[in-house]
Amino acid sequence: MTLRLRFTLFTVFWLIFILILYNVFVYFFVIRVTTRGELQLLANKADLVVETLRKQKMVGIDDPKLLSDMYNVNEMMRIVTADSHVVNTVGIDKELLSIPIDVRTVSHSETLRLNGQRVLLWSVPIYEEHRLIGEVESARRLTVLDGYLQILLGALSVTSVGAILFAILGTYWFTSRLTGPIGQMVQTMREIDRSGKLQRVKMGQEESIELQQLIRAFNQMIERLDRTIERQKQFVADASHELKTPLTVIGSYADMLKRWGRDNVEVRDEAIEAIAKETERLKKLTRSMLTLAEAEQDDWVNKTRFDAVGVVKELSGVLGTTFRREIRVHAPGSAVQLTGDKDKFRQMLLILLDNAIKYSKEPIDVRIRSDKNSVQLEVTDYGIGISEAEIPYLFERFYRVDEARHRTTGGSGLGLSIAKRIIELHGGSVEVFSKPGSGTTIAIQFPK
Ligand code: ATP
Ligand code: MG
Repeated sequence: MTLRLRFTLFTVFWLIFILILYNVFVYFFVIRVTTRGELQLLANKADLVVETLRKQKMVGIDDPKLLSDMYNVNEMMRIVTADSHVVNTVGIDKELLSIPIDVRTVSHSETLRLNGQRVLLWSVPIYEEHRLIGEVESARRLTVLDGYLQILLGALSVTSVGAILFAILGTYWFTSRLTGPIGQMVQTMREIDRSGKLQRVKMGQEESIELQQLIRAFNQMIERLDRTIERQKQFVADASHELKTPLTVIGSYADMLKRWGRDNVEVRDEAIEAIAKETERLKKLTRSMLTLAEAEQDDWVNKTRFDAVGVVKELSGVLGTTFRREIRVHAPGSAVQLTGDKDKFRQMLLILLDNAIKYSKEPIDVRIRSDKNSVQLEVTDYGIGISEAEIPYLFERFYRVDEARHRTTGGSGLGLSIAKRIIELHGGSVEVFSKPGSGTTIAIQFPK
């Protein structure tokens, strides 16, 4: 069932329910008020007769003039004695005259039905010195009143049907406007699905706030997807470019080997050396690319509690020995507990120390501190440094400060982007302080 149909049905049924309640109330209220008026009229007449009789000390109770003064068409009046004898009567309506006699000791009103028509009956007892003598009865057909009620019923029915029709049209029109943008969104989604091209939904001027939010959320999602796809494309382009260089080098050395390698020992050794180096480079590059691809997932890190000082000391020792470089660790005497992925933390530190080793010759300082809320880690080298203009781009994929120089150092420009992703996944932040010629400090803060 469509939203529009649901909405229309709900409104219409709800309206019908309200109208039924309203009409029933109006109808019975009108009946009540008008019948009470008629009854008052009858009561006045009967009271007048009783009053006159009392004044005349009950003389002339059977005088026709007593009642004929009050007579009206559609009416009947009679005086009945206590032993149910009619002593005086006026009226020509046979049906009214044949209403059964029932003498009561108190005033009484009643609505009867004679041949489907309503008749109002009113009776007042006549007392003389506390002795019941009889009663005055008056009855009246409610023909005119019933006629008006018929008209009222007709009017109520016509207005109710009209209201329902208007409600159906109104709701249908309103919900069309309301659900229009949803239809448009569905259309856009189908279009995206069909053509594979991302599109945004246009926002109308008078859309409701909820729909505006929906459209905005949808468009934001589309923009995000667009950016992701764009980044992916860029990554593939950069990666192909990066892969091309070592492959070209390997290819040309292989050619050289084929032509002169059999006879010339020098050429052969050079070619083998270069091919081995480039292969190593390719291996490193693909490993970094795979790591970056994995790092895109949010569940890449596997958090535990570990001692950061232990990791820093262990890795600094290993790298110091391997590269024969002095790496000085400045750490507090006690352990610094950190919640995070121990292996990824080590990987990040390796990236920073690898850079410090590659881009400096002096000893390297690693500082680790902790306060109430955070753990701070700093890796400082006294090497070539980075100019201020380059700093904002350091963490971008494949970014290298000096392309030419890197043919010798062999970096792929992916190290810092991996490090940044690790820091991000731990909710940390990173800052770079550097001056060309005097060195670089990378400062990282992790929340505890
Ligand atoms: P990879 O780490 O993938 O082997 P890489 O070291 O070139 O390659 P990143 O670690 O991402 O790549 O560093 C990006 C660039 O930033 C480097 O190429 C280098 O130019 C510059 N850089 C990074 N660390 C330092 C540093 N400590 N001193 C000077 N330059 C640095
Ligand atoms: Mg690096």
